[in-house]
Amino acid sequence: MTEFAPGQLNAARRAQEIEALAGRDLVDVLVVGLGVTGAGVALDAASRGLDVLAVDAHDLAHGTSRWSSKLVHGGLRYLAKAQFGVAYESAVERGILLQTTAPHLTRPLPMLLPALPSVAPAALTIAAAGFRAGDGLRLSARTPRSLLPRPRGLSATEARAMATGVRSEGLRGGVLAWDGQLEDDARLVVALARTAATHGASILTRMRVTETGEAGEVALRDELTGEDHVVRARVIVNAAGVWASALQPEVALRPARGTHLVFEGERFGHPTTALTLPIPGESNRYLLVLPQPDGRVYVGLTDVDAPGPIPDVPEPSEEEISELLDVLGVLYDDPPQREDVRGAFAGLRPLLDSGEEGRTADLSRAHLVHRGRGPMVTIVGGKLTTYRKMAEDAVDAAVIEGALTAGPCVTRTLPLVGALPREQLEAVDAPQRLVGRYGSEAPLVVSGDPALAEPVSGGLPYTPDELRFAVTHEGALDAGDILDRRTRIGLVAEDRAAASSAAAAALDAEL
Ligand SMILES: Cc1cc2nc3c(=O)[nH]c(=O)nc-3n(C[C@H](O)[C@H](O)[C@H](O)COP(=O)(O)OP(=O)(O)OC[C@H]3O[C@@H](n4cnc5c(N)ncnc54)[C@H](O)[C@@H]3O)c2cc1C
Repeated sequence: MTEFAPGQLNAARRAQEIEALAGRDLVDVLVVGLGVTGAGVALDAASRGLDVLAVDAHDLAHGTSRWSSKLVHGGLRYLAKAQFGVAYESAVERGILLQTTAPHLTRPLPMLLPALPSVAPAALTIAAAGFRAGDGLRLSARTPRSLLPRPRGLSATEARAMATGVRSEGLRGGVLAWDGQLEDDARLVVALARTAATHGASILTRMRVTETGEAGEVALRDELTGEDHVVRARVIVNAAGVWASALQPEVALRPARGTHLVFEGERFGHPTTALTLPIPGESNRYLLVLPQPDGRVYVGLTDVDAPGPIPDVPEPSEEEISELLDVLGVLYDDPPQREDVRGAFAGLRPLLDSGEEGRTADLSRAHLVHRGRGPMVTIVGGKLTTYRKMAEDAVDAAVIEGALTAGPCVTRTLPLVGALPREQLEAVDAPQRLVGRYGSEAPLVVSGDPALAEPVSGGLPYTPDELRFAVTHEGALDAGDILDRRTRIGLVAEDRAAASSAAAAALDAEL
């Protein structure tokens, strides 16, 4: 038996865990899906002392969890819809991520709503009141003002200085508010899965659940070898996101597609402040211009019904791309054009189908824990920000369902792999960009070989050292895992092509 560091995931560990499956006839909890929800469930259950096997048919964060806006929301939009419980929960969970569980993967993000002619004075007043109410939520969630400052009004000159290139004609000023932003949603999932592994969970990617039985039997297929395995679980937690109904048909979902565009930061003057603008003619949808830590800018986001078969990787439509470009035309003096769009991505929100007619943008973002026939608990809905509470609720239900002996939930105070208090992160002896991605593990990533510290493609900062760490420690099994989920190089086809030999070299060196 090879010994692995506690949070180390890689091909050798996967092979060893698969070999051990034969002797493992009964697990406490089998988690289906390793998006943010399933990885959160695996961590919650393992840290309560349960025996956990968590599988994904593809890779960590292969589903919706890598296609989000990467915001750790304070719940403002739920407040606007009088969903006070969801709003409060979001604000509390945002505080937990920012302060305790993942300070290294999260940061405060200033967000400006410019008072352009398309924003009527009444709408601006309402938005400003909303931001103030959001600040009240922050206060009630006990997130310090030193982390998320108070919202404030800006003069036209201040707004112009913060938002390079924003339309100057008719600009009356703006409102500046603060929310949380993730380094990257997929990295949060990787950190969750690795932390679950440190607590003893077995994490297996490329392992599809093909069937479940009423006595807790689970048929698994290794997607790499085609080999079949059967294990039995006291409880199965179905965290398969938009695919959850395939395992639990009683849970009705109404997937909604959200699309983002990817631009070079240069096109927007390398912004550090996010922008938000009400979509003209809509009451509760906003355009978001989101600067990313790797220098790119994402612009989102649409919210359209996506009925029918669920694809593994959803595709944005040209109509959605045009809609986003049109709103950018309202926002900027020299708005980006179709040829400036370097990439685009879409994700499917696993929204609960309440049976009501109407637009998906109006559907609740609350989550549901469903206990069906047989030992299966399904957890769906919700959002990335509230994954921890969703996991806690799902494991509470699983403990009852399986009559499991488990400790209390401890994830509120359980730092993820690499986490350190914010002030200690600055002292980590490694480049600060790496500290923002790996936290206390950043020095481990740096090999010391200068050739492995040079960016692998064009204007992006990712290095061969990082690609290798993806393979040795973060469970990347192929070039797609490295380029599309451990890093986000693959969001732009040209960058992906330029980095593919570096990804192959990382795999060759480490596998
Ligand atoms: C466009 C968009 C923007 C968003 N922005 C934000 C945001 O800024 N902030 C926020 O808090 N939330 C946001 N959300 C919501 C958030 O992204 C989702 O709620 C969350 O990622 C859902 O995670 P999940 O783990 O439930 O599902 P997924 O991430 O889809 O994970 C499900 C996993 O199950 C696996 N799976 C499915 N079937 C099987 C099987 N049979 N066997 C094994 N594995 C299986 C899949 O491969 C997949 O990896 C956004 C959502 C969208 C679509």
